[in-house]
Parts: sequence; C-alpha cells; structure tokens
Amino acid sequence: MHSVRILPALAATPSDRPALRFGTDVLSYAELARAASALAVRVGGMGRVAVWATPTARTAVAVVAALLAGVPAVPLNPRTGERELAHILGDSTPDVVLAGPGDELPAGLAALPRIDVELTGPGATPPTAPVDPESPALIVYTSGTTGPPKGVLLSHRAVAASLDALAGAWSWTADDVLVHALPLFHVHGLVLGILGPLRRGGEVRHLGAFSVSGVARELSDGGTMLFGVPTMYHRLADALDEDPALTAALTGARLLVSGSAALPVHDHERIAAATGRTVVERYGMTETLMNTSVVPGAAPRPGTVGPPLAGVELRLVEEDGSVLEELDGETVGEVQVRGPNLFSGYLGRPEATAAAFDGDWFRTGDMAVREADGAVRLVGRKATDLIKSGGYKIGAGEIENALLDHPGVLEAAVTGEPDPDLGERIVAWVVPQDGEKPPAEADLADHVAGLLAPHKRPRVVRYLDALPRNDMGKVLKKALPTAG
Ligand code: ATP
Ligand code: MG
Repeated sequence: MHSVRILPALAATPSDRPALRFGTDVLSYAELARAASALAVRVGGMGRVAVWATPTARTAVAVVAALLAGVPAVPLNPRTGERELAHILGDSTPDVVLAGPGDELPAGLAALPRIDVELTGPGATPPTAPVDPESPALIVYTSGTTGPPKGVLLSHRAVAASLDALAGAWSWTADDVLVHALPLFHVHGLVLGILGPLRRGGEVRHLGAFSVSGVARELSDGGTMLFGVPTMYHRLADALDEDPALTAALTGARLLVSGSAALPVHDHERIAAATGRTVVERYGMTETLMNTSVVPGAAPRPGTVGPPLAGVELRLVEEDGSVLEELDGETVGEVQVRGPNLFSGYLGRPEATAAAFDGDWFRTGDMAVREADGAVRLVGRKATDLIKSGGYKIGAGEIENALLDHPGVLEAAVTGEPDPDLGERIVAWVVPQDGEKPPAEADLADHVAGLLAPHKRPRVVRYLDALPRNDMGKVLKKALPTAG
C-alpha cells in the first residue's frame, strides 16, 4: 500500500513504542494506527480533507488518517483570518473538515461537513487501495510572506524523499525523541516535526505552545532533538544566562535545528558560548521541502545553511540568466533547485507553476552565495531583501545581523526604499531593547558601517515597538508601515 512509503512504522503490526505525546494525550504506534485507521475508513474515497490544525494529537491523527486513505490533507491554520480562510477553502475545495470534538470552528467553515477526530478507534482495517506515489499527500499553503498563500501539492514521493535525506544528514533514527513546539500547518511543524519522527519510528513530544521551561524539561527528560524557528532560539538564548537547567538541557541535546527564517548570528553565538553547541540551520521551502542543512558537528559558521542534502541539486543563477560555475563565496545569485524533494505544482495555478520553473529547476526566489566547500549562504529574498543602492547589490540579512549585534537593539529588519540619488536607500527598522533609550540613528549607522562597509550604512532608521511577524516568527516586510 502506498502510505507505507511515508509511514512504514504504521504498517502490518505497529509496535507499542511511543509515537505521539501531546501533554496528557499519549499514543503508541499501535494506538495511532487504530485511531487513524478508523478515521481513514470514514474519509476514504473523498477528494480532499481539510484539517483544523491545532497543536494537538488529533491533528496528527487526522493527517495520518488522510495519508492512510490516500486522500490529500489540507492543514488549516486555526488563527487564519476570515479572508485568508475563505481564499484557502475556495482554492482547495475540501469535502470535509477534520477537527477536535471541542473545537469551535469559524463561520467560514460552517458550510463544510465536519468529522470529529477521536484518539481511540475501534480497530478498523485501513483502506488498502493502492495510491500513486506521485499523487498529493498534502496540500500545504505557503506562509504568505510575499503574497497570498499558494497551495503547494506535495506528493507521497517528495515527502518520503525529503525526510530520508534529512535522516541521512542528521543520523535521525527510531531512538530519537523530538521536542516540538511549532504549529502544525506548515512544512516545518507538520512534515518535519510530525511525519519525520513517525517515518523513523521515533517519538514526538509536543509542548502545545513554546515555552523555555517546556523545552528545558523535555530535553532533560529524554528528548534528543529540538526543531525551532529563530524566535524560539532567540528566547532560549535570552534565558540561558540565568537558567543553568536550560543550559544543561541544550548542552545535552543530540541535535538543535533551526529553520524557516535566518537565525541571527548574534543568537548563534550566544547559544554556542553558553552551551558549546552549534545550532544546525537547514533551509527549505513549502515548495521544495528541505534543500540544504549544515552538517552536524562541522565547524560553526553562523549565517550558512550548509551544502545541498543528498539527492538535491542546487545552482545559483545570476540576473542575466548565467549559471555561476565558481563557488567563490562572493557572487550573489538566485538559488535554483531540482530533485525528488520538489512539489508537483501550485494547486489550480498552472501559470504560477510554470513561472516558478526554469526548465526542471525551481526558482526559489532566495538569493545566496556559495562558499568554496559548497555551503550556501543566504543573503535574502529577491523580492524583499535585495537592496540596490549606489551601484551595489546589498542583502538585508547581513545588515540585520549587524544591527542585532548592537547592545541597544532587540529586533531589526532592513528594507530598501526609492532614493533619487542612490536608486534605493537602506532603511533600518529597529525595535530598541526593553526599557532602554533607543540608540541614536548615527550610532547605529556607524555601528553597521564599522562592522560591514560604508555603503551598507542605513540612511534612515525607523523605531517600532515590534516587528510584524507571522505565526512562524517570520518578519512580514510588506507589512512595515511605509516599506515600498
Ligand atoms: P510565500 O511564499 O507565501 O511568500 P514563504 O516563502 O515565507 O511565503 P515558506 O515556504 O514557508 O513560505 O518559506 C520558505 C522561505 O523561508 C524560503 O524561501 C526562505 O526565504 C525562508 N527560509 C527557510 N529556511 C531558512 C533559513 N534557514 N534561513 C533563511 N531563510 C530561510
Ligand atoms: Mg515562498
């Protein structure tokens, strides 16, 4: 049966080993197989199912059931606003929504039939009709950082291939216990964080919501790996100084992984200084699943996301379309990738799909340089992070890192805006440290120029109370007050 491709541990005779732990909801592989099979029977034959993706065991059961039934699952962010929800439902046209019995669903979902997900099942046999590995396992919506979210068709084959490439890179096995605190409606939290451990036959422990104390507790109580986004590592780094238990927990973890956005160098360094551990950064997208990862144990090089994973081909393409041949650590190009990890297209958007490819290479829209050893250093997104100023092409990321290195800066984002003289001028959006006097504009500009180069000096500094961020902690540059 097809689903064995993603979840072999649920085939035949699933074991009594722990699979999922969400607070007091604990399911072994055998229990998960029972609950998911019972649900799979009910959704079998449907076109698509939406999953009300709360951070609960029920979401995992619902997605596993859909995989077993060979019905594509569309995870929905329970905090999605009315308009975006309408967009996603209109776009993906699910037959039914799977939700927890107590979940209150918004009016926008009222028209859809609902099936309540239970954690115990009567022990049904899952549907056995074979499913094409090229058919979609999941339809995951992009974060909507740069435009309306697009539905990404992820095949059974792509999900399995990407998870296996990660397993190879991270020596990920059934003995690993993942500490998880991410939402379950994106690739990071759902594919890597739930399907990843289940594919290996290991355990997931979800905290429900991120907390420093929860991470410390689970990592010191058997957890071996932590997957997080940069805002989580930032909060862990902040807490390290005063929390010896947390320091010991992070020091003892087998693997600390960060992704979804760039982990500021400053936070890398603070964690390394306190724990001796290097956070392993990996780089991926909804459309490509995972592309690169830092090699665990390699000498730390904050700011790089490592070489391509096994099976992934990666190239940099310059603005004129020429492919960069040399790995010079300097020339910036757009990252393009191909491999078994790629999506099958955007749902209902043949033109957007065609525009996203250069032959069989997917254009990521991310800009990077490559180091001599093949490691990729992302400099930002083509659409929002590349500033053309005074004849230079400047990546926002390195300026953001430099600003965060200033003791008076809590958060920073850098954009370009039109300038009659320079073409574009560099604008720094700065959230000052709590309760401190904001650092002066000239002080910040000098700080950046001193660390980087004079032409990378912000020309304007704007102070904010907080940066606009989405659920993954990604900065929404388009939502900055007057960013162009
Ligand atoms: P949309 O495509 O709707 O604008 P999005 O691109 O943010 O949203 P995702 O697919 O969730 O949606 O995110 C992928 C992007 O996240 C990548 O293209 C890249 O810009 C960024 N990203 C992922 N991992 C990293 C990383 N380790 N360092 C820097 N950026 C990263
Ligand atoms: Mg994107």
